[in-house]
Amino acid sequence: MPGRYDVQSKFPPIGEEGQEKMAHARVVVVGVGGLGSFLLQHLVRSGVGLLRFVDFDKVDLSNLQRQILYDEGDVGKAKVESAYTHLKAINSTVELDPLQDKLTGQNAEDVLSGFDVIVDGSDNYEVRFVMNDFAKKHGIPFVFGSVAGAYGMAKVFLPEEPLCLRDVVGNIDLAEAPTATSGGLISPILGVVTGFMAAETIKLLVGAVDNVEKKLFVADLWQNQWAKINVVSDPGCVVCQGKYYPALEDFNHP
Ligand SMILES: [Zn+2]
Repeated sequence: MPGRYDVQSKFPPIGEEGQEKMAHARVVVVGVGGLGSFLLQHLVRSGVGLLRFVDFDKVDLSNLQRQILYDEGDVGKAKVESAYTHLKAINSTVELDPLQDKLTGQNAEDVLSGFDVIVDGSDNYEVRFVMNDFAKKHGIPFVFGSVAGAYGMAKVFLPEEPLCLRDVVGNIDLAEAPTATSGGLISPILGVVTGFMAAETIKLLVGAVDNVEKKLFVADLWQNQWAKINVVSDPGCVVCQGKYYPALEDFNHP
């Protein structure tokens, strides 16, 4: 009888060796909503050794349209608790570390320390900047993704790259950034963006860094546009220069 990971490890760039590396990898996913639901399924099914997932929220009926980890029986329960139950049923061999909390600059050290990759499953830039700044400060790869409407974008920020999320989005007005709840969202875009993000995460875990996409991946499923956009570093970025990490140090101005 074929083993759980036989099909994946038959893919030559992963192989038995890559599968073994994944079994010893530690990944943290912040946010277990639309993006996080898909991401965690990909990572749990593919056999990542330890997965921490962080969310303070409860499952709402209006989440079920896109947050594929949950069903009607989960409504009203803590997302991390429901996610744990479903993910454990999918793959009991993966170590799961649910954390019911909101990531902030104050608790970033406790929540994000000790992981090989930090993955964005969140829905807002306040939390993303905490991940971004922490990842840059500590030299950890950060896999960013964002969706709104039928549009999404994603990118890996490598520690050795003089580039971070702040360079890409600039001085975004945090209050004005579109979210699923403000601008609507169709669930297929989550599949596209998280497919990219999960593949990039797997590349990092098996050591295929040369295959990691350097450009910003963007997709619009309604306008049928797919692109890779060149992004350049902001020479004035204090985070890339290692001078200052606003989300970790200045709690009034994330
Ligand atoms: Zn930067």
